[in-house]
Amino acid sequence: MMAARCAPATSWAATVAGIAFPGWEPEISYLIFEADMADEPAMGFHRGLKGTSALGRIETGRVRGVVIEEVLETGGAPDIDALRAALTAAYGTDFGVHDVRWLSRFTDAARQAADYRQGRVLLAGDAAHVHSPVGGQGLNIGLQDAVNLGWKLAQVARGISGDALLDTYQAERHPVGATLLQQTLALTALNRGDDRSNALRALTAKAMQMDEPRRWYAASVSGLDVRYDLGAGHPLLGRRMPDLDLVVDGAPVRLFELMHDARPLLLGLGGRAPPGPDAAVPRLKRVDARFSGALELPVIGVVTRPTAVLVRPDGHVAWVAEGEDASGLSAALEAWCGLQPPTGH
Ligand SMILES: Cc1cc2nc3c(=O)[nH]c(=O)nc-3n(C[C@H](O)[C@H](O)[C@H](O)COP(=O)(O)OP(=O)(O)OC[C@H]3O[C@@H](n4cnc5c(N)ncnc54)[C@H](O)[C@@H]3O)c2cc1C
Repeated sequence: MMAARCAPATSWAATVAGIAFPGWEPEISYLIFEADMADEPAMGFHRGLKGTSALGRIETGRVRGVVIEEVLETGGAPDIDALRAALTAAYGTDFGVHDVRWLSRFTDAARQAADYRQGRVLLAGDAAHVHSPVGGQGLNIGLQDAVNLGWKLAQVARGISGDALLDTYQAERHPVGATLLQQTLALTALNRGDDRSNALRALTAKAMQMDEPRRWYAASVSGLDVRYDLGAGHPLLGRRMPDLDLVVDGAPVRLFELMHDARPLLLGLGGRAPPGPDAAVPRLKRVDARFSGALELPVIGVVTRPTAVLVRPDGHVAWVAEGEDASGLSAALEAWCGLQPPTGH
């Protein structure tokens, strides 16, 4: 039998770096497994008092499942007896489970590193935040951490940007992790099977039938609603730039194609040169494009079309122009892109 990986309740990296990792102790433990069963199991979802268990058959005929343990366990090496006990507690039978291929335990512990940076140590992904997998967001948020951090690290390591750029990582990503933890706590509570939780879930399900809550929730779990606090102004500011259909030099281009080289992008959208520094700013890429469609953001909807935007390598908008005015661009380049405009500009 192999032990599958499972979300740790603590972050080794945070511990070694001496970074506090506060949060909520686990209340529920789950076993995740692949095994054979002598009897036909109850396929699909099964709600118990603490939450949802689920069983499904894979192509090989074996059964994969997640089952809640009756009593919280936190040890990392469960055995077949623990699985039998959990199945019996949840379903009244262990379905004759045998030949366990792999088996692992995870919990609903929710913790977040107090600081994502300690000198030269930077935390991302599960090293920065652990939580129940309910909602399926951990991988996505962890990748977004890395996308936020990667280009900043590269620019600082190559001497293009000052060290202060790395501090924007904590400022931008820590609030996203904190929201993620709150959501997983809420979803864990919503999954409970007592009468009050069932009533709350029915109420929530009704709200989710309405367009606005549904749009909000979809944007939230997909991470598309993230807005970094890069100042007030146009709704695009701090948000992820949509992948617009542009025309550049008469040819159709998708906006994201312009970002493959991971350089901050000063993009004119009015068919003429974007306003801004005339002299070259290191790494800044300038593109004059035409865009005639509607600019729509998740949750917010259609927003006014800017004449130019500054898009960071992580896809978030650091500056927006709505006319010829380029004021604020130099400050945005420096603060949010770590790029120093030429002296005198
Ligand atoms: C049951 C379950 C279901 C999930 N479902 C989803 C889902 O549907 N959607 C979603 O987005 N997320 C889901 N997640 C969460 C997702 O798996 C994690 O958020 C993601 O894998 C974290 O990636 P990571 O690279 O940060 O950490 P990890 O995947 O843990 O990778 C860290 C790696 O570092 C290695 N390592 C650790 N210590 C050391 C060391 N000292 N030296 C060298 N290497 C080391 C580990 O072996 C591991 O390979 C789920 C998690 C669980 C437990």
